[in-house]
Amino acid sequence: MHPETRLVHAGVGQDPRTGAVSTPIYQCATFQHPGLGQTTGYDYSRTKNPTRSALEAALAALEAGAGAAAFASGMAALTTVLHLLRPGDHVVVTEDLYGGTHRLLTQVFNHLGLGHTFVDTSDTAATAAAIGPNTRMLLVETPTNPLLKVADLRALGEVARQHRLLYVVDNTFLTPYLQQPLTLGADLVVHSVSKYLAGHNDVVAGAVVARTPELAERVAFLQNATGGILGPQDAWLVLRGIKTLGLRMRQSQENAIALAHWLQQHPAVTQVYFPGLANDPGYDCLRRQATGPGAMLAFRVRDAALVPQVLARVRVILFAESLGGVETLITYPWSQTHADVPESERRRLGVDDRLLRLSVGIEHAADLQADLAQALAEGGD
Ligand code: PLP
Repeated sequence: MHPETRLVHAGVGQDPRTGAVSTPIYQCATFQHPGLGQTTGYDYSRTKNPTRSALEAALAALEAGAGAAAFASGMAALTTVLHLLRPGDHVVVTEDLYGGTHRLLTQVFNHLGLGHTFVDTSDTAATAAAIGPNTRMLLVETPTNPLLKVADLRALGEVARQHRLLYVVDNTFLTPYLQQPLTLGADLVVHSVSKYLAGHNDVVAGAVVARTPELAERVAFLQNATGGILGPQDAWLVLRGIKTLGLRMRQSQENAIALAHWLQQHPAVTQVYFPGLANDPGYDCLRRQATGPGAMLAFRVRDAALVPQVLARVRVILFAESLGGVETLITYPWSQTHADVPESERRRLGVDDRLLRLSVGIEHAADLQADLAQALAEGGD
């Protein structure tokens, strides 16, 4: 079946008792035992809940995995993945990645004895060179946040296999609709489900999808043991969101392509980062491993003084953190998503005070362009 069809049918047929087309919300903490030593398959909702199970089955199918676990946030999902490691282990991780993941490694898991090395994972050789004797995990974001650098997922899979690393890919930006890392060699996929999968800026959620039943079982064990589960109401919202992922992603992507080309020729813009532009360094690699560039882009303005102007003037576009919803959002990574990354590191990476990030939504492209045009224009209020 085509991805669009699979998306629409995500979670359908999960209630054989009534045939409900929309998976019901099982707002239930505990389940009656039919008898001593007997179970319906559901005992307590931290361990397993039918609405969450429907979502987890849908996510596993969409990512071509053996199993999935839905969490209360993307960070809860990433935390659980890092709990697969032990003190003394070392992680090689994308340097230009979500600031919260940077914070988790440098301010939480480092205290538990987990080492890490940040590296430009769009450079396969540099990534391989960062692997040491204690390295157990390769954690990759692609395209990266916020500079949209593309890592060669197949080549990194080879490296991970040679060094017997657990290979984890954060697939938040492209979603399984555009990219399926498990089919390219990854062992685990992580999502901030709060973004495109849910799609409406109305829920915070996360997910881990595992390639093998053994890994899926291990993640389910940790999910139950540490408890960062997604509640049934939010699981239902995500199931509903997933049905339109294909439509939303196609429209957002089309808008992003139009805006990226327009921004490229704007006099106030010095650089556009978007792997859907033919002159972008990640363009070829992305085309080999994904069916589209997605709808995230970043651009650098000529003068830092333009940043407050743009953020104050946008009317259609909303100045807010997060991404992947139907509304177009503009973010200032310097003081928002990446504020926890040390300043010298931010500047080295190119996450400077002139960089703005757009999560392009499904509005009409002309309205988005007009909004940016007036926000970037010289003079005015
Ligand atoms: N991974 C990426 C790529 C993200 O952009 C985010 C959040 O912005 C996260 C993980 C964390 O997800 P959450 O905000 O759902 O905890």
